[in-house]
Amino acid sequence: MKTCISDVTVLTMDDQSHVYPDGYVLFDESGIIQAGDGECPREADTYVDGCHGILMPGMVNVHCHIPMIPFRSMGDDCPDRLTRFLFPLELEAMTPELVYLSARYGICELLLSGVTSVLDMYYFEDQVARAGEELGIRAWVGETIIGQPTCDSKEPYGGLPLCEELIRKWNGHSRIHPIVAPHATNTNSPRMLREAYEVAKKYNVPYSLHVSEMDAEMDYFREHWQKTPIGFLHDLGVLSPGTIAAHCIHTTPHDWDLLAQSGTKVAHCAGSNTKAGKGISPVQEMKAAGIVVGIGSDGPSSGNTLDLFTQFRMIPSFQKTKYHDRSIFPAREILKMGTIEGANVLGAEDQIGSIEPGKQADLVLLETRSVNMFPVYNPYSAVVYSANAANVDSVWVGGRQVVKEHCLTETEIQKERGNLSAAMTAFQKKAQKYADII
Ligand SMILES: [Zn+2]
Repeated sequence: MKTCISDVTVLTMDDQSHVYPDGYVLFDESGIIQAGDGECPREADTYVDGCHGILMPGMVNVHCHIPMIPFRSMGDDCPDRLTRFLFPLELEAMTPELVYLSARYGICELLLSGVTSVLDMYYFEDQVARAGEELGIRAWVGETIIGQPTCDSKEPYGGLPLCEELIRKWNGHSRIHPIVAPHATNTNSPRMLREAYEVAKKYNVPYSLHVSEMDAEMDYFREHWQKTPIGFLHDLGVLSPGTIAAHCIHTTPHDWDLLAQSGTKVAHCAGSNTKAGKGISPVQEMKAAGIVVGIGSDGPSSGNTLDLFTQFRMIPSFQKTKYHDRSIFPAREILKMGTIEGANVLGAEDQIGSIEPGKQADLVLLETRSVNMFPVYNPYSAVVYSANAANVDSVWVGGRQVVKEHCLTETEIQKERGNLSAAMTAFQKKAQKYADII
């Protein structure tokens, strides 16, 4: 079924950054057929009036832990919370059902905010894949591998066999892409990091982990290995074009060379990095070194919201402040990071990330009728600095409409919230013992 959206400003995010100020996009389930200025030149089955809004590619969130919705706003100001209550409460309270219902809720939030592709890593990740398949998002899903007992494995490193199971089950799916996701550089043994990498190579899937994020991680590598975590990963032989390093806050010029030379990608999480007081990542230097950097919201516990608008505003604010330079990180560059460069991080730039004939029709229509969207002089600026998730009117993934006039087409958010709320009773009871710190 051919759909044509017209009377919109089209931000293609293609190589030449084409903008069609009074544009149209014609597409179907197999991909984008045509885009340009003026009236739709061919017949379509459905016509969508863009009402002078902004049409852009679906956004790509390259680092998330979607099922952590029950933890949102819990202990936000608590130091060392990962070990004080996050790890213990996950172990005690997360069940496959809670992961599934949380994943459904979080995916609804992603779609409603215009995120059409997400990379997720958590436990019971098969449930995230299931929720993603049902709700129509594109998802890169990784079972967390970690050297301690988890909610889905009594044995440390039980995530590795679960990861292989996940890959065998979902590899080849059109929208759900399994990946290998060791937790972090210092929560896995070097041997396990390497073994997990071999699995990623065997199945030709991405390999993603937290890197150079925590102070304790940096101390550990300095004391035990006399090198940086990135130097360590390089010597271990796990940096590659398929490797996605999340955070990379505490990095050196030598680290940037290693990342660039190996083709390793970076997931930048400005919101969670700074909310936790971890530091401002040297994105300027990493990009100058030729490293591809995408944007991650991090989980709802670390980043609170899953949309990219929140991150869009924070990235230039922190970078401009760090360098006392208003001219760096212009709005267009930020939007590239949230679309085509995010697609590049996932190795999917041939399929998604820009509005070009032949690519998948992952599209977001932003309305400009709301109070915060007037006037619009520069559409990139309007998206990065003026817009928020509430301005997302409609969303398509692979040509299929998943959000229409601010509502999900497959489900209702109130229904999802009711289901999740009911499933959270036991979780909230178990959380009581941490009441003094959360
Ligand atoms: Zn994370």
